[in-house]
Amino acid sequence: MTFDGDLYLTKDLTKSTAAALAGAIKNGDVTSTEVTQAHLDRIAKVDEKVHAFLHIDAEGALTKAAEVDAKRARGEELGPLAGVPLALKDVFTTKGVPTTCGSKILQGWLPPYDATVTRRLREADIVILGKTNMDEFAMGSSTENSAYGVTHNPWDLTRIPGGSGGGSSASLAAFEAPLAIGTDTGGSIRQPASVTGTVGVKPTYGGVSRYGLVAFSSSLDQGGPCARTVMDAALLHAVIAGHDPMDSTSIDLPVPDVVGAAQLANIEGMRIGVVKQFDGEGYQEGVRQRFHEAVQTLRDLGATVVEVDCPSFDYALPAYYLIAPSECSSNLARFDAMRYGLRVGDDGVNGVEEVMALTREAGFGPEVKRRIMLGTYALSSGYYDAYYGSAQQVRTLIMRDFDRAFADVDVLVSPTTPTTAFKIGERADDPMAMYLADLCTIPTNMAGNAGMSVPVGLAPEDGLPVGLQIIAPAMADDRLYRVGAAVEAAMNTKWGHPLIEEVPSL
Ligand code: GLN
Repeated sequence: MTFDGDLYLTKDLTKSTAAALAGAIKNGDVTSTEVTQAHLDRIAKVDEKVHAFLHIDAEGALTKAAEVDAKRARGEELGPLAGVPLALKDVFTTKGVPTTCGSKILQGWLPPYDATVTRRLREADIVILGKTNMDEFAMGSSTENSAYGVTHNPWDLTRIPGGSGGGSSASLAAFEAPLAIGTDTGGSIRQPASVTGTVGVKPTYGGVSRYGLVAFSSSLDQGGPCARTVMDAALLHAVIAGHDPMDSTSIDLPVPDVVGAAQLANIEGMRIGVVKQFDGEGYQEGVRQRFHEAVQTLRDLGATVVEVDCPSFDYALPAYYLIAPSECSSNLARFDAMRYGLRVGDDGVNGVEEVMALTREAGFGPEVKRRIMLGTYALSSGYYDAYYGSAQQVRTLIMRDFDRAFADVDVLVSPTTPTTAFKIGERADDPMAMYLADLCTIPTNMAGNAGMSVPVGLAPEDGLPVGLQIIAPAMADDRLYRVGAAVEAAMNTKWGHPLIEEVPSL
């Protein structure tokens, strides 16, 4: 096996990009079985320390890999990511494969169907290695709310890998998978990407089907691609995006040319807005420093940078913590002990309501219960207008701020998250501190447009990754990739790729 000529092609299969692996499989330099086995071996070696996976489907993965190899042997055309392994967040249903959403209440549940995202991955011949750890029902910013234990950040095992998709981001940073899927309701793709030095994209709401994505907050949830490079994320985006009649909020328009945009990687003449609200007090010094350097890089690459005022963004976080819990209190009502997973107290004496109550008491963790209570309260008849209604009005104001901004600029930028990865346990007992991790990412979910986090170096004070957030208008996801790829190339020249060498802790 000889790989050379490309910075990202390495002899160690687990260190290569998805694009390079797909090319090598297509050329016959390596088989999908070898690539898949290399990643399974890597998982066996390091996942005890990282705990990115809740379920490893070695048999399913190797079967799929063998199918891809057979296809190639028959001379059949292979797709752009055929044979490449992927880690799937445990919030997408997988037929016959456990899907827990990080919750005890779904322990033992085997979904009878595949999510649309899962189906598209399979149809693209992508090899699903297993299901990744997450905050229970995607509620959290650290993966500490999983009922199945925490995931550790490969950069420093004492720190969080972000959340709720910490298993997916950690699997990439630990070289356990070159591709992963996350979901982003308030930042759960972008914030984990930021703190692990990886790339994560929240597509436009409706751009990727939610069918089979277990709902947290339906008007905010969005599945999206995670990878170690912008091009790999683009290739994966192209696989999972597109109209789905099974999701009534799915957008029936052509998918923006994200791969072409990543190839272009040129931002000359673009207008870029720096969000005034996302800087200053509360932001870690090293995050600010790397962010401002990245903004200078945008100028050096030929973009015009202006400051943009989005005053309603100050209210995004409180409004989110009314809307998301309200929707979750309704969505999670389906976990009634009758249909899925856990059932507690079914002794022939307890009535149905007691069984439901006992099951929900035992099956949901504290953060999920907190949100259900908040949401039930905000939706109750006496408080609906004051809380839920006001939050929806704030949402409209946020959309107007975006509309005004995008009348003048092509994309907006900010730090992805105010700090680098914090220590495990540091914010576990302080929900407000935890919620602040998504300060910069939430407005995008509220408005339904698209966002990316791309690494822009390490904070000098702690040596941990910093992410730049890029925000584009709805259905202009391609702009994220154009800017992201340009920034990535400039950063690689400056620092080297953050994840091309072995991460320090493993
Ligand atoms: N951290 C945010 C929350 O706890 C966002 C989660 C997400 O995007 N799924 O709700």
